Amino acid sequence: KKYLDESSERKRLYNEMIELKGNIRVFCRCRPLNQTEISSASGSVVEFESSLDNELQVICSDSSKKQFKFDHVFRPEDNQEAVFAQTKPIVTSVLDGYNVCIFAYGQTGTGKTFTMEGTPENRGVNYRTLEELFRISKDRGGLMRYELCVSMLEVYNEKIRDLLVDNTNQPTKKLEIKQCADGTLDVPGLVQERVYGFEEMWELLKSGSQARSVGSTSANEQSSRSHCLLRVTVKGENLINGQKTRSQLWLVDLAGSERVGRIDVEGERLKESQFINKSLSALGDVISSLASKTAHIPYRNSKLTHMLQSSLGGDCKTLMFVQISPSASDLGETLCSLNFASRVRGIESGPARKQA
Ligand code: ADP
Repeated sequence: KKYLDESSERKRLYNEMIELKGNIRVFCRCRPLNQTEISSASGSVVEFESSLDNELQVICSDSSKKQFKFDHVFRPEDNQEAVFAQTKPIVTSVLDGYNVCIFAYGQTGTGKTFTMEGTPENRGVNYRTLEELFRISKDRGGLMRYELCVSMLEVYNEKIRDLLVDNTNQPTKKLEIKQCADGTLDVPGLVQERVYGFEEMWELLKSGSQARSVGSTSANEQSSRSHCLLRVTVKGENLINGQKTRSQLWLVDLAGSERVGRIDVEGERLKESQFINKSLSALGDVISSLASKTAHIPYRNSKLTHMLQSSLGGDCKTLMFVQISPSASDLGETLCSLNFASRVRGIESGPARKQA
């Protein structure tokens, strides 16, 4: 009874929130200056208004200031707990039957992996989310039965690679997106591991992360050039009324968004950049079409958006972290990322407000 009351109250509050704001959220997170940036003394070009937690200003090269607003802005001093506190209601709603997608977008080195994966001392969104899902599902044990399965994959040069399969001594299985009988999309052949506890799941995902760097000359290099996707499928059964739910949560660490000039790179690297460019702009187009409620949503323009089709749009919830660097040396990329994020959210950015 308590759970049912809580659940319907949550649904009511959620529906109210949707009416007010839609179901796409954009959070911006600015990392701290690193040691090199501190010693070069070029300083930060990102400023925060002390009383506001949803806007920031960037000092442009001509000293003008540009203001950006998001659903929430995390500052360099905000820790992983603070980030998860804002994220938790969205991710845990997967247990109430909602499909959820969370992305980390930004230039390489701005903290995408820090936000999603984190470090053993500073656990990120993925770890905290999975821990929370198991905790809540145990709490609701007498009323709901949940079945959780995980998959982990990588999209590199528009090819899908299963990270839960040991690919070292065998040719990589070719994976494609297919439409199921019920109209949803899936990747047949992708490993879907049933997991019974948090520790077991975490070990599995650690091996998936290791598989990510296999075959590349440098782990960092490869991981910044591919999208890494973690999928949690949740099947729920209400033990009182027999009602069943099936939902998916996607946690996505995107490839670095930095632009590489044709002059700087050629061959393999240029091809990689074109693929990344194409898929990130496809993602931007899909989210902005959803935000502006356009009739045609261009899901099929990239593997990434096509695969996520069933979890983007409708009453699915989408959260994008746009990660930025405060450093003057990254100003160009920072403005690009902030403009991209403002565009997907359908929010206009503008010159800074005049200070009184
Ligand atoms: P990306 O995944 O975008 O390439 P990383 O997550 O690897 O970037 O972050 C680059 C470096 O900055 C890492 O050493 C990371 O630990 C550090 N870092 C990023 N964000 C933060 C933060 N909010 N607080 C402290 N360190 C951070």
